[in-house]
Amino acid sequence: MAEYRAGEIETRWQRLWQEQGLFEAGEDPKKKKYYCLEMLPYPSGDIHVGHVRNYCITDVVARYKRMNGFNVMHPIGWDALGMPAENAAIKKGIHPEKWTRSNIAQMKRQLQRMGFSYPWSREIATCDPSYYRWNQWFFLRMLERGIAYRAKAPVNWCPSCLTVLANEQAEGGECWRCHSTVEQRDMEQWFLRITAYQDQLLDDMKGLPAWPERVLVQQENWVGRSHGAEIDFPVEASAPLKIFTTRIDTIYGATFMVLAPEHPRVDAFVASTPDEAKARAAIAKLRSQDRRARLEGQLEKEGVFTGRYATNPFTNKPIPIWVGNFVLMGYGTGAIMAVPAHDQRDFEFARKYGLAVDVVIQPAGERLDGATMAAAYDGPGTVVNSGPFDGLPAERAIARMTAHAEAGGFGKGAITYRLKDWLISRQRYWGTPIPVVYCAACGMQPVPDRELPILLPPDAPFTGEGGNPLEKVPAFVNAKCPKCAGAARRETDTMDTFVDSSWYFYRYLCPNKDDGPFDPDVVDYWFPIDLYVGGIEHAILHLVYSRFWTKVMRDLGLVKVTEPVVRLFPQGMVHKDGEVMSKSRGNTVAPDDVIGRYGADTLRLYVLGEAPPEMGLEWSEERIEGPARLVQRAWRLVDRHAASLASEAPAPPGELLGPAKELRRKLHQTIEKVTNDVERIRLNTAVAAFHELVNDAYRLEAELSKDAGGRAVLREALLALVRLMNPFTPHVCETLWERLGQTGGLVYEPWPVADPLLAREDEVELAIQVNGKVRGRITVPRGASEEAIRTQALLEPHVRLHTDGKQIAKLVVVPGRLVSVVVR
Ligand SMILES: [Zn+2]
Ligand SMILES: [Zn+2]
Repeated sequence: MAEYRAGEIETRWQRLWQEQGLFEAGEDPKKKKYYCLEMLPYPSGDIHVGHVRNYCITDVVARYKRMNGFNVMHPIGWDALGMPAENAAIKKGIHPEKWTRSNIAQMKRQLQRMGFSYPWSREIATCDPSYYRWNQWFFLRMLERGIAYRAKAPVNWCPSCLTVLANEQAEGGECWRCHSTVEQRDMEQWFLRITAYQDQLLDDMKGLPAWPERVLVQQENWVGRSHGAEIDFPVEASAPLKIFTTRIDTIYGATFMVLAPEHPRVDAFVASTPDEAKARAAIAKLRSQDRRARLEGQLEKEGVFTGRYATNPFTNKPIPIWVGNFVLMGYGTGAIMAVPAHDQRDFEFARKYGLAVDVVIQPAGERLDGATMAAAYDGPGTVVNSGPFDGLPAERAIARMTAHAEAGGFGKGAITYRLKDWLISRQRYWGTPIPVVYCAACGMQPVPDRELPILLPPDAPFTGEGGNPLEKVPAFVNAKCPKCAGAARRETDTMDTFVDSSWYFYRYLCPNKDDGPFDPDVVDYWFPIDLYVGGIEHAILHLVYSRFWTKVMRDLGLVKVTEPVVRLFPQGMVHKDGEVMSKSRGNTVAPDDVIGRYGADTLRLYVLGEAPPEMGLEWSEERIEGPARLVQRAWRLVDRHAASLASEAPAPPGELLGPAKELRRKLHQTIEKVTNDVERIRLNTAVAAFHELVNDAYRLEAELSKDAGGRAVLREALLALVRLMNPFTPHVCETLWERLGQTGGLVYEPWPVADPLLAREDEVELAIQVNGKVRGRITVPRGASEEAIRTQALLEPHVRLHTDGKQIAKLVVVPGRLVSVVVR
């Protein structure tokens, strides 16, 4: 008996696949294409079983599609720029490039041991100058079109990473990477005008039916489109203050205004206050408060009266202008009309400072009173105390009041968005240099295309102090102005690494092209991506940026698609001891350890079979025994019969009986089930089906071995089992395929096809009684639905003789026995 030695088998097949280039793919217009992708990993150095889970999912689908005749693209690469490499350089004195390259080598070896079917010739690392030069090229195209621009802006600054963070990288006031508290600073920064695409980003979601709803909802909230009105509130001896509101129906209840402490007109307003010094001190204090805490309303509401008044344009009454910590610049106009009766923040502020609370919406069956109410009311109701609009339902008042403001020339309907332009400047070394220079005479000048790539200098000092290492490399900073040839200073900001991951999946298709980012015809063949697997944490950021980037490229005439990804599948996380597996928690399991003990096939089968792919998976050492046993049992089954089955000719098809019929039926049911499951990415239930089929084969093998018909069915079952399991456990299946006398390997072996007739369960005969007397009989498949039995019973000719023209009062199905019909 041959012993199952995973290590030997796996090394052998991995070498053979690689030598024969079986996973390489080229454009072939005669074949249907399938682009199967996982989010490219960050080369942190350590890969753990949590990472390999999503690669296992895509590998099953890629191998399955190849067996189904598709031309499959399933590439891999490295998201290799970014802060951890630079932090490692500061801490350990290793150059970021060296650290990154050695991590890539290590992780590549680990991925290769898993037997993933990647075309390694297409491997890219975003830190290759041959990659990031195209980031620079895209940047220049965006600069020409005004999509890239430079502006002074209050930015989130991480004092530990010494860099600017995008708003979404500073959620909750914490750096997404190091969790330090984020500070606010004003700096000149580079932005990409993603807001020019905000409506498309929302509206094109209709074309993404195969994206999970929860991802679309997150993106929708991130763009945050709201419909409302812009209203001008006149200010005496000054320009009017503009506000945006989604609740113009409450405008008669606006009893004061609040400006953000940073609002540009605050200083002028307080200049006329009697106690100016005191007001200025109080405003300075508000400005120093944590912006994030202010935004999230975590702080006690605080404010200062400016001494000035505006006029509510609907009531023509003066209302005081305050400065308050709960209003922020950059959200709306930095000024609000405060309606304390119908907005909780305004209500708390009004109660604290004794400001009027005027009810203008009355809910049905209640009588709110501004003097006594304990909280704001923001529900539906009828408009009151609002002059000519009294008695209107609040929703209808919105259109009428907006029209009134438009007619009066002091307002109009408007839409606002929460989305901000994408801040891409980073004050770090290990990113793509932004290709512009600053000339004292000519100002900012883009670097000409022929000078790309602007390379990262290898000799920057990594001290961790004083900001960007690039500033300390004179050979990098000192540049020549492309316009006047005079001395110029090179931009030292580098790009957010989310730029790299916004378009990498196009570069896989033309990884060596050096006169463009890719060939549009090649992209046209492969795009869109048919399946994209990655973590749900990328629902915003990457998955919005890459949609934006595709739309920009479409507008540049480079691609035809409007959306890059047809089907998005976020895989669940791997947990251990009740926590998400991660390096920082110290609960990781290295795939190498598991492969050493059980083999890669068992590890693959375990992560695929242990839980639904979209759900969390709790790592359990004991439970690996289940898939390990399945591999062993399939091995022994083939081992016992290989010699006789490999040589035996198939038995002629004919009427099968007993165990042969039973196993063949189970086989075709399994083919049906596994095919369905892989299409729907329910891979865990496919693994359960393998267990069942192997169990049945074990139970029936002795009987089946007795005659040629039985042996033929056993052979058929084993050959199909090996093909069905191949996407899951490819190494052992290739070996078993050989042992069953087959040649040519499994990579492109056709997928088994289920015969629905053979898969069908046996039939049973049912008697049909009408009013207690048997009038006919029908045969139905065992397990047929009640609905199907009912329909068939009523169509039986003898039954119809006794039921036609009568009313069916009752119909009872007794499964496996009879159908009882009562007529009147
Ligand atoms: Zn940080
Ligand atoms: Zn110049």
